[in-house]
Amino acid sequence: MLRLLLATRNAHKTREFAEILGKEFEVCDFSSVPDAREIEETGATFEENAVLKALAASQDRHLLVAADDSGLEVDALDGAPGVYSARYAGQEATDEQNVDKLLSELARRNVSRPKLTARFRCVIALAREGKLLNTFEGVAEGVIIDLPHGEHGFGYDPIFVPKGFDRTFAELPAEMKNEISHRAQAARKLAHHLSTLR
Ligand code: IMP
Repeated sequence: MLRLLLATRNAHKTREFAEILGKEFEVCDFSSVPDAREIEETGATFEENAVLKALAASQDRHLLVAADDSGLEVDALDGAPGVYSARYAGQEATDEQNVDKLLSELARRNVSRPKLTARFRCVIALAREGKLLNTFEGVAEGVIIDLPHGEHGFGYDPIFVPKGFDRTFAELPAEMKNEISHRAQAARKLAHHLSTLR
């Protein structure tokens, strides 16, 4: 079994990664690493942030470390919230506050349905002992709806309907989201790469 440290304290993400990577991987995260420091996401792109976090977290650690950065890009908002997805409505914003802000921005700009295309993007960086090994990207295309629906997932899931579906990410069962999500696509590329390292 391959051990992989995820540079996150987001239990939702860790669970999604563990489910996607499957039984061949023992996935742990910062909740089991007392000395782990939270790294500030100062990059301008998902890739820059993922690399920053993976390099910092893998310093002085022989373990393989993966860090991801992800978020939502809404075309009618010129790609916002993008790398600011987690803090769109402010530093300590809740998921609900971020969703409310996104919907009010769209309402303010009078954007109508066919134009509400968006995508979730995820970049994972893999590092060991302070050296970058590779990066992996996944994208899930879809549209934004104007009223939140569903109880599963997190973040912007209740207002995102993935392409080819008529339900939001928050309405789809976790197994289905984990088949098609941006994180799933990036994590599968990571899993494939790790299998070639053995
Ligand atoms: P990160 O922890 O810096 O990668 O922040 C990602 C932010 O993007 C999250 O806090 C969510 O707001 C949003 N996000 C990323 N992935 C998802 C997802 O799968 N569903 C819903 N929101 C997501």
